Amino acid sequence: MGIATVNPATGEFIKAFDALTDAEIEHKLALAQQTFEQYRHTHFEHRSQWLTAAAKILEAEKEAFGRTMTLEMGKPLKAAIAEVEKCALVCRFYADRAAEFLADVPIETDASKSFVCYQSIGTVLAVMPWNFPFWQVFRFAAPALMAGNVGLLKHASNVPQSALAIEDILQRAGFPKGAFQTLLIGADQVAAVVMDDRVKAATLTGSEPAGASLAATAGKQIKKVVLELGGSDPFIVLPSADLETAIATAVTARMINNGQSCIAAKRFIVADPIYDEFQTRLVEKYQALKVGDPMLPDTDVGPLATPGILKDLDQQVQTALQQGARVLVGGRPLDGVGNFYPPTILTEIPVDSSTAQDELFGPVAMLFRVTDLDAAIQLANSTPFGLGASAWTTDEAEQTRLTHEIDAGSVFINSMVKSDPRLPFGGTKRSGFGRELSIQGIHEFVNIKTVWVK
Ligand code: NAP
Repeated sequence: MGIATVNPATGEFIKAFDALTDAEIEHKLALAQQTFEQYRHTHFEHRSQWLTAAAKILEAEKEAFGRTMTLEMGKPLKAAIAEVEKCALVCRFYADRAAEFLADVPIETDASKSFVCYQSIGTVLAVMPWNFPFWQVFRFAAPALMAGNVGLLKHASNVPQSALAIEDILQRAGFPKGAFQTLLIGADQVAAVVMDDRVKAATLTGSEPAGASLAATAGKQIKKVVLELGGSDPFIVLPSADLETAIATAVTARMINNGQSCIAAKRFIVADPIYDEFQTRLVEKYQALKVGDPMLPDTDVGPLATPGILKDLDQQVQTALQQGARVLVGGRPLDGVGNFYPPTILTEIPVDSSTAQDELFGPVAMLFRVTDLDAAIQLANSTPFGLGASAWTTDEAEQTRLTHEIDAGSVFINSMVKSDPRLPFGGTKRSGFGRELSIQGIHEFVNIKTVWVK
């Protein structure tokens, strides 16, 4: 389809954009480099003012930006508006804290003076997905710009208007022209940008193949990458849990963003004594969800972002059924226009099947029954992914074991997994490497320089 906005709720074609030519890309790379030479010397105070101005624009125009996102990828409008608010939050967080995160760190040695300082590195390329079109970009841009780097954005091809809106927000906020530019390019044009000498590092949020491809190119050039890839997060419920809250959260944690979130709970691992009640009540709640027009305020679940995603998810569910799984609710795309897939629950999935290992990127929950904590931890760790994990128990000994033994970038006890500007975010295993957000996020794309004075 190329670079275009197509309404996923109706299939209506809205607008296409031409991919940049090589000459246009060259112009933007040159501008980025030229801007960096000046921008690296700007004071934190100015960067902070610009980023705070960006937060104000986001807050003032959240409804319009929310509508752009919903139009392009189908998330419920109320969630899109909340996403814009969260972007303002991450801007304010780094505007307020970056100077402290990047301050010199004195270290006592045999030198008369020794310390660590953090320096900007130059142009960083961000390759981003469509599922949180604003949030994914701002959580990269806010720390990168505060650190004195300049950014280039290659956004997903189905969210070009979101990509252009973000560039415009940062421009209007006062950042120098060239500090943050959107490159409307296809995936096949990314490697050449990564290889360009003026691009010093790259970050990609998206699928495993895309991450592997970008990292291979960057690796050949000895360039740093951060990868935020897929996940199949476990949601473990043990007998002591507050079942009411756990079940309500299980709905939100799976249905967030129409089921298309990397940190959505995807595998519900429930202890035998409470399994039947959990299943019955979860099915009731899924049946009560309202699927429909994402622009309407009472819609819980909107369409999937593209027809291809709908087709892939349907195929995965059919494969699960062939492998012995049983469907409790949903299980087939909805008739009519738009990429609608109903809230679905699969159970009796053989633990050694490919389905149990896969990421289901849509509103499909996988339910597993386990005998005890050992079995829960083993099953939780049995996929190639390690992004986040949510575990529900009031037993402190169980909480300690879960926090230590789950192999993931985060473990949330008695809560769903969520990103927060104050906390580092990232994965283990095939979910990627490196961290975003918090102090760790801003340290990814800086030169951590040692200074030693005799
Ligand atoms: P995707 O196909 O990998 O697309 C993500 C971005 O990568 C898009 O901008 C895409 O451009 C680009 N891209 C695709 N192939 C590429 C290649 N070979 N080289 C360079 N760039 C390439 O991802 P998706 O399937 O749309 O997104 C869903 C995946 O992202 C899920 O697995 C999800 O779990 C993961 N995700 C992870 C996080 C996290 O923080 N860990 C957050 C959100 C999503 P085009 O659109 O032009 O193809």
